[in-house]
Amino acid sequence: MSAKKDQPSSHFIKRIINADNESGKWDGRVHTRFPPEPNGYLHIGHAKSICINFGLAEEYGGKCNLRFDDTNPLKEEEEYVNSIIEDVKWLGFDWEDRLLFASDYFQQMHDFAVDLIKKGNAFVCDLSSEEIRNQRGTLTEPGTESPFRNRSIDDNLDLFARMKAGEFSDGERTLRAKINMVHPNLNMRDPVMYRILYATHHRTGDEWCIYPMYDWAHGLGDSIERITHSICTLEFEDHRPLYDWFLQALDTYHPQQIEFARLNLNFTVVSKRKLKRIVDEGVVDGWDDPRMPTISGLRRRGYTPVSIRNFAETVGVTKRDTIVDAARLENALRNDLNKRAPRVMGVLDPLKVVITNYPEDKVEYVDAVNNPEDDSAGTRKVAFTRELVIEKADYMEDPPKKFFRLGPGREVRLKYAYFITCHGAVRDENGDVTELHCTYDPETKGGAAPDGRRVRGTLHWVSATENIAAKVRLYDRLFNNENPEEGGDFMKNLNPNSLQIAEPAFLEASISEPVSGCTYQFERLGYFIADVQHSSSGKLVFNRAVTLRDSWAKHAQKVHK
Ligand code: ATP
Ligand code: MG
Repeated sequence: MSAKKDQPSSHFIKRIINADNESGKWDGRVHTRFPPEPNGYLHIGHAKSICINFGLAEEYGGKCNLRFDDTNPLKEEEEYVNSIIEDVKWLGFDWEDRLLFASDYFQQMHDFAVDLIKKGNAFVCDLSSEEIRNQRGTLTEPGTESPFRNRSIDDNLDLFARMKAGEFSDGERTLRAKINMVHPNLNMRDPVMYRILYATHHRTGDEWCIYPMYDWAHGLGDSIERITHSICTLEFEDHRPLYDWFLQALDTYHPQQIEFARLNLNFTVVSKRKLKRIVDEGVVDGWDDPRMPTISGLRRRGYTPVSIRNFAETVGVTKRDTIVDAARLENALRNDLNKRAPRVMGVLDPLKVVITNYPEDKVEYVDAVNNPEDDSAGTRKVAFTRELVIEKADYMEDPPKKFFRLGPGREVRLKYAYFITCHGAVRDENGDVTELHCTYDPETKGGAAPDGRRVRGTLHWVSATENIAAKVRLYDRLFNNENPEEGGDFMKNLNPNSLQIAEPAFLEASISEPVSGCTYQFERLGYFIADVQHSSSGKLVFNRAVTLRDSWAKHAQKVHK
């Protein structure tokens, strides 16, 4: 492989791989893995890890495994496994035939444990988990050795076999590594390798009543799969000495663990545990609610795999913890969709417009451009009629200086159609405008005047008679605070207005059957996708993925002032 270190997208993990390839450390192999625990849905932080692991394999012509670290039967479920598979696939990565489960190695892991006992490096301990915790010491105090630490190898083998055979109750005994109770690193103070747990595992059922602990299982999984670079997040840095100790003690294949900084996003939380609480307490519709920072939520919201991969690429890979501005994720989506999203017109907050000089029953089809960024996308026909709707916000009785849209006596362009001039407004008993009366200039078809006269405002519109009515879900940040943890409990900082519903919204009829999975640009309003779960026959529901411009920037200024 050629050295990539001069490329701008280079980062420290690539430099490690380049050096390994030069020295021949792994015979030029690059084999990574993405190792989720199936105890929740994947979030945007996981997307970064997926992009790093699968991305490096792709870039170096190597391999990446999808391995479920399913060692805790109490929290793991099949539903999570399936969602994770779907999400990684949707992001566009391929593990080929390497869909793997740590639970498939339970027998091998057990045999390795027996090996370690035989080498005098592990012992069966009768202390309760609480006693073990109490004797562990602290950063400033040494730990205390277990009274069972010096059992004979034969006793340990016998007791471990009986643990496995189900002779003891939940938590009655553990198997612990015999390392060093005064080690400055607490992870090295005779850590537990196996616990007794009578729980049904989503794959192995009731076959096991002893379950391996994460630190023991993870390195073995890497070793069994002959991973070269075991990439994980910084919180595992303190676990690396243990990772190395286990593999050295077993004298077996030994990958290199490399840590990078987690991705954090402001205005949201990226922790399965916290996201689960938001789901369980009914704040959102479920793990894939479009307000959630989960991959499935982002997908339902209208995010594209490309936008998420580009985002992951631009935030980079470092060893320094940072909080990324959520606006960058939104910008990655805009950048992708601006080039590709088909344009349509829709009105979310309708105000009726009657074109008084337009024939009553006439339906005329005007040509609308599908994507100004892409000529090959062509044009479509949009129905123009005497009665139309425009956005309420596009009309003002008493417009201020910079307002170039509709007002009494003003002329504007209706996009792709005609110039219209407003001559009057109808009001309800509260004095609110319910209808505008306008005239159109038949000479301005297509949106240009032959006499060269100009208008400053261009409005989107939809026929009031030839359209489809829809419900549109508009989302705001899930949290009010940039740092949801502010004040201690993130649940207290939830934004109660994170969902607004526009109904009825009117959309041009061309979108009556939206292409599944396609995110559209509603002109001037943002990007929208049909919501598969909320839509039913005859009832279209759209989600807004993101506005056209970073409307949040204004809000942020307000917050920061
Ligand atoms: P959570 O705290 O949300 O439960 P986790 O780290 O426990 O996350 P795992 O299923 O163990 O979740 O993670 C799978 C992989 O994804 C791990 O390698 C982990 O380091 C990585 N990962 C998890 N969260 C992030 C994040 N925010 N940024 C980057 N990588 C992450
Ligand atoms: Mg974890």
